[in-house]
Amino acid sequence: MTVHITAVAVAVAGVTVDTRHWIGGERVASAGTFTDVSPIDGATLGEIARGTATEAEAAVAAAKAAFPAWAGTPRAERARILHAIADGVEKRIEDLAIVETHDNGALLRSHRRGVIPRVAHNFRFFADRLLRLGHEDFDTRGHTNHVAWDPAGPCVLITPWNAPLMLATWKIAPALAAGNTVILKPAEWSPLTASLLADVAAEAGLPAGVLNVVQGYGSEAGSALVSHPDVRRVSFTGSVPTARTIAAATAANLTPASFELGGKSPLLVFSDADLDLAVDLAVEQYDNAGQVCLAATRILVEDSIADEFTRRFVAKAEQLRQGDPRAEATGIGPNIHSRQLEKIDGFVRRALAAGARAVIGGGPNTELGGLFYRPTLLADVAQDSEIVQEEVFGPVLTLQTFGTEDEAVALANDTRFGLAATVVTGDRERAGRVGAQLVAGTVWVNCFFVRDLQAPFGGSRHSGIGREGGTWSFDFYCDIKNTVTAPRGWQDHG
Ligand code: ADP
Repeated sequence: MTVHITAVAVAVAGVTVDTRHWIGGERVASAGTFTDVSPIDGATLGEIARGTATEAEAAVAAAKAAFPAWAGTPRAERARILHAIADGVEKRIEDLAIVETHDNGALLRSHRRGVIPRVAHNFRFFADRLLRLGHEDFDTRGHTNHVAWDPAGPCVLITPWNAPLMLATWKIAPALAAGNTVILKPAEWSPLTASLLADVAAEAGLPAGVLNVVQGYGSEAGSALVSHPDVRRVSFTGSVPTARTIAAATAANLTPASFELGGKSPLLVFSDADLDLAVDLAVEQYDNAGQVCLAATRILVEDSIADEFTRRFVAKAEQLRQGDPRAEATGIGPNIHSRQLEKIDGFVRRALAAGARAVIGGGPNTELGGLFYRPTLLADVAQDSEIVQEEVFGPVLTLQTFGTEDEAVALANDTRFGLAATVVTGDRERAGRVGAQLVAGTVWVNCFFVRDLQAPFGGSRHSGIGREGGTWSFDFYCDIKNTVTAPRGWQDHG
């Protein structure tokens, strides 16, 4: 791997990335740094500026100072700049894709063809949606009620490492479109593309201080940002324990916060399903080495087809090639970090010790070494066991069977999560009946992962608080104001 370290920048596969913060339109160093390591081979990618309360304070001050002018910028001009950012992302797809793959280990081909184009789409979508964001007027006995979406102020966005730039821009784009300023704190395990985005945004003409990037640990930079009293919104994607800490911090200032958290989503396969489709959807859950909050990690199959489903699943999963995420033929890459690998393996060891059977996988890939974990399917698992109830965030699925539709729904809903659910059935009525009973922010029927950006996204129960997407994003990132005007009293001149 070509990595060259200098004081303020790294070159990752030939792409130069500034490793300092981006605050108020300037690159800012910190007294300390942290080391960013590639999950592909453990190589050091660079020393990254390690933000503390000092940089958090500076970034919030910059975002606060830039807010009035950006909030007052006409919508069409804000939309034009967001489209220019999308143009910049599209011009740099290759750079962003290669850097993201080195930093978080996800497949280069999906970064190139799916994830980074989607980053550009996030900006285009919210730019266009802003222009269609209407005002609503209601009439009460001649009094006009005029409802407007006012920008809220500086927003802190805290993002995870599993899809760094995609999830960051899913928040940045609507926050900026709404007229807010932003401080992004990317995850410490994959901070590099956030820095490239700052370059792209500056080149696109986004004014200084409108987008700021503070790097560092959650417990240092992150906690200082989410607890800052001048921050008007906090949007977080990550784990449940961290959400609890952030919720306590935002509660102190009554800062509105949105939480997109984990899941333990079910994939229900009924005997009337297209079995090949069901198997394809089940194997797809190994995407990104299982590091996807939406992943349907609990496969629930009707008794009568369980053996056939399992046979076909194993045949298909065995075709998945594990290896270097830069190679076109690779189907599953490494997990992000040694700590994550240990966590995944801990879950699997405990499940096996409790009587689970590994249908496939069941441990790290010892041939490849490093951070590669074998795609795993565990059967003979109890509904109340840890492996069925807790999010693993690795390539580990469980297999359970059910006899009746009611039993399937009961098993599907019996965790503390409610992010998504997938139903595979050939019966339209059953799809409607089952879907209506599932506790989930998103229900997929005979498909997975497809979603219009106009639709709401979020989770129920411990999978989150609030919804983002389409107008739901604007509802969150705006202060909604109703102005009631009396029909009389004007002294119009001319
Ligand atoms: P994981 O445990 O999977 O790494 P986290 O939920 O801890 O996931 O991390 C998601 C994001 O939250 C990261 O950017 C991380 O730095 C940040 N974070 C962690 N702890 C805090 C905190 N106390 N305050 C603010 N942000 C935090």
